[in-house]
Order: sequence, then C-alpha cells, then structure tokens
Amino acid sequence: MRLILLGAPGAGKGTVAKKLTALDGSVQISTGDILRAAVRDGTALGKQADAFMKAGDLVPDALIMGIMGERLLEQDCANGFLLDGFPRTIPQAEELGNLLTKLNIKLDFVVNLDVPRDVILDRLTTRRTCSNPACQAIYNIKSMPSKVDGVCDKCGSPTIQRDDETEEAISKRLDTYEEKTAPLANYYEKIGLLLNVNATSSEAVVKAISDKLA
Ligand code: AMP
Repeated sequence: MRLILLGAPGAGKGTVAKKLTALDGSVQISTGDILRAAVRDGTALGKQADAFMKAGDLVPDALIMGIMGERLLEQDCANGFLLDGFPRTIPQAEELGNLLTKLNIKLDFVVNLDVPRDVILDRLTTRRTCSNPACQAIYNIKSMPSKVDGVCDKCGSPTIQRDDETEEAISKRLDTYEEKTAPLANYYEKIGLLLNVNATSSEAVVKAISDKLA
C-alpha cells in the first residue's frame, strides 16, 4: 500500500503505521524519526533541525524535501510505504505530488486521523519513550505503563519524556499543526484522495483503511 497518514501529533499515526506495515511489508517512513536520529547522531541535518524541533516549529520545507527525495528512492519502498508526519505543509504536498509523478508512483489515498485536541494533549503529556536509540519503545504512564516505572520493559534502559513533549512544546506543536498542516485535509479532499477516520482506536483505524483498500 502507498498511503499518507495525516493527523496531529499524538493522533496515533505511528501506531497505525506500525500495524499496517505488518499487513503487507510496506515501510513506515517517519520524518520525525529520521530527524530525531540526525539530531542524536549530530549530523549536519540534525544540527540544522534541532532548534526548530525543540521549539515545536516545523523544519524548513527544503530540508524535508531533501530527505524525502532520497528516502523514496530506497529499495525498501518498492513494496509500498506509509508516510507518517510528511507532508506537513501545502508546499511539501505539492512537491511530493511532483516527485511521485516523476517516479511514476501512484498513492492509494490519504488518511486523516481526526482526534480532539484535549485527547491529544492528555496522550502526549503522559507519553514516555525508551531512551535507547536502538529501541525507542513507547509507553503511556496512564494507559500503557512499563512494568517498572521509568524502565523500558524491552531493553531495561530509562524511559524519558521527549524534549518536545512538555506541555508548552506540545501546545506549540498543535498550534503549528492547525495552521500549517490541517489545511492538507482539504487539499487532498479536493483531489479526491481523502479518507477521514474518527480515530477512536488504532484497530478501528486499521480496519477502516483495510476495508477501503480491499
Ligand atoms: P513528529 O515526530 O512527526 O511529531 O515530528 C517531530 C518534529 O520534527 C516536528 O515537531 C517538526 O519539528 C519536525 N518534523 C517532522 N516532520 C516534519 C515535516 N514533514 N516538515 C517539517 N518538520 C517536520
């Protein structure tokens, strides 16, 4: 499958993408994960992206398009891909459209995960991530705690709150989403590619997507 997953931070794009990859071997491409790895590794890309990310701002379009232009050419995309967190602006969507045309790739559709802001705020402030870069398991102190508080079940490393998951940074990220990314739903609806899903549970979302693909 070749899908774009749209939705605010915390809407569940990553969780849904992971479940979908298990269905047919498509790869999840998360620009947020690629950028966090670049920051951690101290690459030139990471150095340019770091301050934007910490502030809850978007990284400039040119940097993101550079990443995606290369990523979509990699061999593992041949089985399909789930774009998680990209595109995030109208210019990114337009450039992606040009890129896909050039590569002769057709999207199946664009899924918009619609989750109320208060649910998202609660989810993100209670999210914890394993600090081990090779693991990065995700927990939630309310709904999915690790067995031992602050310790990853899978690898034993400390679990942490991401720099951009403080209440202030989250609020900024949601404002940025409303301003820059939410208009993409309308953009894709106009070109007949949008599937709106009221994302109550990731299982329900995966089912809605599988039904539409069938
Ligand atoms: P995410 O994990 O998808 O919420 O991304 C974390 C942060 O990475 C965002 O708050 C942005 O600063 C940056 N980022 C990720 N994807 C993009 C994108 N497509 N365009 C611009 N910035 C992005």
